[in-house]
Amino acid sequence: MRRSKKYSRPVRPLNESAAMGGVHYEAGADGTQYKVHHIASGAKQYVCPGCNGIILVGEAHEVAWTEDTIWGSQYGQDSRRHWHTTCWRHRGRR
Ligand SMILES: [Zn+2]
Repeated sequence: MRRSKKYSRPVRPLNESAAMGGVHYEAGADGTQYKVHHIASGAKQYVCPGCNGIILVGEAHEVAWTEDTIWGSQYGQDSRRHWHTTCWRHRGRR
């Protein structure tokens, strides 16, 4: 394996979340780190925990979950929630 002569900082792609499979990290209202996945078009209806409103089929929204739970990362993934994009952005400011 050839190595380059000097280390250079990796070039970050412009759309970093796309490079990570659409998942990026955001801090929740309680300071917990959440993984957030943007859904361009929902496959079914969900209830948004921010406003208790319906996220319609085909509506773009966010899925957020944390793997930082006392029950382990699988529990966090299983309890992921679907949010309206605007509700997620305004979380903790209600
Ligand atoms: Zn909502």
